[in-house]
Amino acid sequence: MSSTTVQRVLNGRRGTRAVEFCIQLFVLSVIAFGLYITSVEVSFLWIIVFRRQTLVGGLYLIATFVPLSAAGLNYVSLIKGRRTHNVPRYLMPDIDDLTEPYECIDSEGHLASCAKCDGVWKPPRTHHCSTCGVCRMEFDHHCPWVGNCVTRNRMRNFLALLVLVPVAYSVSMVQLYHPLVRHISLALDASHQDPWTNQMWWDWYGSWIFFGGPFGRWIFGTALGFRILKTRRRTDLPLLEQPNLRLFSICSIGLLFSLFALILAIWTLRDLLRGLTTLDAMQQKGSNHVSRFVCIPKNASCELHDDGAQDNLDNGNDLHSRYSKVGAVLPAERPYDLGFWANLWDVFGRTPRHPANEAKYRWPKLNPILVRRIHKPGSSESESIAN
Ligand SMILES: [Zn+2]
Ligand SMILES: [Zn+2]
Repeated sequence: MSSTTVQRVLNGRRGTRAVEFCIQLFVLSVIAFGLYITSVEVSFLWIIVFRRQTLVGGLYLIATFVPLSAAGLNYVSLIKGRRTHNVPRYLMPDIDDLTEPYECIDSEGHLASCAKCDGVWKPPRTHHCSTCGVCRMEFDHHCPWVGNCVTRNRMRNFLALLVLVPVAYSVSMVQLYHPLVRHISLALDASHQDPWTNQMWWDWYGSWIFFGGPFGRWIFGTALGFRILKTRRRTDLPLLEQPNLRLFSICSIGLLFSLFALILAIWTLRDLLRGLTTLDAMQQKGSNHVSRFVCIPKNASCELHDDGAQDNLDNGNDLHSRYSKVGAVLPAERPYDLGFWANLWDVFGRTPRHPANEAKYRWPKLNPILVRRIHKPGSSESESIAN
């Protein structure tokens, strides 16, 4: 790469970093504001002090504080280690020493290296994230909302965040729903009765078009109603007893976040249970198919049963092959699909596969049906290389 190209890449990365930093601040502010509204304004000032329902207020405080603060902690844990987490630091092994089936980059059984990271070894399932500028083991996707890569080691935290957001929102709305509906109807009435708002907004044809269609017209019209009611607000009543834009805003943002998180959680989990990362799924759907190969090394100690999908790599039953066998992965094949339950366990059951202090690389298990197809003598898709 020339120096101008390097500079352009660095500038682009700094720009993205700045945008992602703003997104992080926004998300953290929304979580902090949500915590403030639910615990101080709703639980304490409205339910306990104004309505004098101590037990209800206390239970509501716990029910909202736990999922919302857990979501905040998960979010912070996903932000951390942008330059360091899950970055490979293993030396490229000699392929003649390998004893387990592995994914390789060509029909010679070679392993991948990263040209952008000074040629270091890219273990299988590692991807160079151009936004973070590092290689990431067991990469799933780069999440702009988190401003960091999501990897298999962090998948549990990521899914927990996606589930906790709608849970926290639903629990909060148990007490907020009725006052919010009342506030909106009062604001809409005020907005429709005000001559200036009618002239400038409701009667203006542009309100149907330029601010997000009919839904945007309604949202903006309601917000104008809240501005009108602000002038009539009493200081002796709690926030929940009077229409206000703060509650309306946090509930609207919370609804959008919750729906988005729920869709993303279902989407991500569906891919994971099929043995695919988000990147795999995108590459499979995309028109430009990425060539992938799997090598069964000549030293592989693996037992492949005819009936199925079983490989036992540690029991010393050799393949007794003098050759390494390399086969191309077919477009519809999922190299790391181990079956529904094994995939589920791989996400939720295991401890991190590559902890920072681990010296030896642990190879990811390959789809046993795929390995068996490549190993099977005479299979048209596999080819042997003399060694
Ligand atoms: Zn790299
Ligand atoms: Zn990244």
